[in-house]
Amino acid sequence: MAIIGIDLGTTNSLACIYRNGKVELIPNELGEYKTSSAVSVLENGAVLVGAAAKERLVSHPESTAASFKIWMGTEKTLALGGRRFKPEELSALVLRQLLEDARRYLGELVEEAVISVPAYFNDDQRCATKLAAQLAGLTVKRLINEPSAAALYHRYSTQSGDCQLMIVDFGGGTLDVSIVECFENIIEITAIAGDNRLGGDDIDRAIVAHFCKENGLTEEKLEPSLRASLYHQAEMAKIALSSAPAASLSLQQGEEQYSLVLTCDLLRQLCGPVFQKVRAVIGRAMKDRERAGRINDVILVGGSAQLAVFGDFLEELFGRRPHVAAGPDEIVALGVGLCAGIKERAEDLQDLVMTDVCPFSLGVSTYSYAGDRRPHMAVLIPRSSMLPASHQERFYTLHDNQTGLRFEIYQGEGYFASENLKLGELEVRVPPGPAGEQSALVTFTYDIDGILHVSAKSSGGDYRDRLILNPNLHLTQEEQDRAMERIQEIQLAAQGSQRDQLLLERALRLYTQLLGRERDMAARLICIWKDLMERGDRIGREKNYTQIKEQLDYLEARSQADPWDEDFWFDEAEEDGAEDEAEDETED
Ligand code: ADP
Ligand code: MG
Repeated sequence: MAIIGIDLGTTNSLACIYRNGKVELIPNELGEYKTSSAVSVLENGAVLVGAAAKERLVSHPESTAASFKIWMGTEKTLALGGRRFKPEELSALVLRQLLEDARRYLGELVEEAVISVPAYFNDDQRCATKLAAQLAGLTVKRLINEPSAAALYHRYSTQSGDCQLMIVDFGGGTLDVSIVECFENIIEITAIAGDNRLGGDDIDRAIVAHFCKENGLTEEKLEPSLRASLYHQAEMAKIALSSAPAASLSLQQGEEQYSLVLTCDLLRQLCGPVFQKVRAVIGRAMKDRERAGRINDVILVGGSAQLAVFGDFLEELFGRRPHVAAGPDEIVALGVGLCAGIKERAEDLQDLVMTDVCPFSLGVSTYSYAGDRRPHMAVLIPRSSMLPASHQERFYTLHDNQTGLRFEIYQGEGYFASENLKLGELEVRVPPGPAGEQSALVTFTYDIDGILHVSAKSSGGDYRDRLILNPNLHLTQEEQDRAMERIQEIQLAAQGSQRDQLLLERALRLYTQLLGRERDMAARLICIWKDLMERGDRIGREKNYTQIKEQLDYLEARSQADPWDEDFWFDEAEEDGAEDEAEDETED
């Protein structure tokens, strides 16, 4: 049975397999490698995943969700079409869709995978990713850090000499920076820094905020579909600016028309705060690496790395323009596919070795003296330790006749325990005795997936494993079975209909964005296409697909047209006919 590699992204997800000595991306039903990580509940209760669901963010915001990866490992739930979903459940639906596409493409059932996570994902987020996979009926063979996957593929595909690289992965919702040493067939990650809440989405948000400010609007008061449309336009404009000097956004609310022209200078200005955070993260990675020494190359991966103003910013920072990896939004997936090949013990990958490090320090809260009021961190595994890492430390009682030793487990860099992320706690009983006589030995093991295991054994022989805090993430077998059932019960939108559904959703989205004659045109197309879909008329759809798609492409172009581009100056050629008529009249 095949093991596949999955890049479960904030914005887009991809699947990949290593077979016949090659890494191969797995196309979805639309023939595309990228599947939008968007989920929408249809009127009939079925769930749509991918590009068509992304369209529904604008037309049906109340039943659609995207970018939910940023909530993984938190207790937040999202309401979709009257049901509440945890982020892990939404991710599980994306995984189910990827598995379904892989099954169709490979002709065999897939039940095992290597999944990538942002290097800077904390323990809760990693556990949440594993849970999402379980809910989708998938066994996780390994979690791999996204930039490490990118480094693996880069090394595999370029075969350059020994070098030190910096990988900057700038996606939709996360930033990861890794320093990588390549020596012969060994790829050693030496430092990781990142931000789990920083990406292209923040740039879209800044554009939308600016649009609202300039037009005297309050974002929160906008109707959900208008707001979603504005986000959609912000993203389109941002992407357009990598190849055009300006792009525009516009919104019609009642009688009022609002607009904004986005230029490169304005975009640069709006990106300022985001780029400052990027700069800080890069600085942290540089400081943390094991050996100083020069960086031979900076490699940019992730969708947002393609942003021209981002390249400008890095050029200024490094004094040289870093190059964007070929296929920057596919390289992580290719690396995860390779990793799946290594897991399967593919012959030709056997000598490829990769080591990774932990992004955060791990420890327990402790008191230094009997009257100490505010517990601080006793770090057992400092950040940047090579994985897997294991460390033991003995802790003693502080009071006479203390009955137990209680440990709170934390992840983070703060001196005081409370400044860090609490991962769990555990308590062991000790026999009575004078202060300092009884003790407990605490063992931390950070596994290769970046997940922490903790146990403690007291001098009295009491032994405990950690209790996990976040009950959402650590279900009993029964709870897990029930949660899995709930996810497996949901029907994914019918096979073979993705392309047609996407066309309909796109027309519906354009309808909400356009007005006047163009809106009427969208309405006509919706009517024709919806009828063909509802009647199950396959032949009719085959016959009309291309033509309707072309008309939607036209409407798409109209919806993005720069208002300063056309229809602004009085166009003589266009008016010629009218003048002729006028002349005719005077002659009469
Ligand atoms: P993730 O790994 O978070 O799923 P991706 O690496 O696919 O994300 O990147 C998605 C982000 O990249 C989005 O914010 C999107 O707007 C942005 N993006 C995609 N293509 C481009 C482009 N050509 N120029 C600028 N930004 C882009
Ligand atoms: Mg990514």
